[in-house]
Amino acid sequence: MASTALDIITGDGDKAAIAYWKLRSHSRWLMSGCIEWMRALNKRGYGVFSIAPNANALTHRVAWVLAYGPIPNDLCVLHRCDNPRCHNVDHLFLGTRQENLADMRRKDRQRDYSGCIGIRGEANANAKLSASQVLEIRAACATQDALSKQYGVSREHIRDIRARRKWVHLDG
Ligand SMILES: [Zn+2]
Repeated sequence: MASTALDIITGDGDKAAIAYWKLRSHSRWLMSGCIEWMRALNKRGYGVFSIAPNANALTHRVAWVLAYGPIPNDLCVLHRCDNPRCHNVDHLFLGTRQENLADMRRKDRQRDYSGCIGIRGEANANAKLSASQVLEIRAACATQDALSKQYGVSREHIRDIRARRKWVHLDG
């Protein structure tokens, strides 16, 4: 049975070195910090990386495996930056498929790679906000009062999010 591209990289140091070199040499660095894959993309815009004939993997998953090792079975590698071509590991995090889908439905989104949710924060049953809403709140110029009304949470909650006392694991 053929191994998957990610298995090949994990199990073979030489292949991992080649993959690392290939990933970097066929990418461009953006001011945002995104490292964009410049070769093949799939229909949804994710970079496609080939390590052997019939052994492909998505570039952001390859980058994750090279940096941190195998991806746990029930988790997926998600983008903080909403850029499916990006494979900068600083822009990636692990989340569950279920949470990702739930967020998608809530936002009525077409694309499944944006606004992904991490395993902390929203996995907590008491969480009222999604990870992407937290990022919106941090980026917003509106007052605590306005944001509290808009998102249906207390002003104290907004203040804590902005002061990074809540959702501390989220960058932004
Ligand atoms: Zn990025």
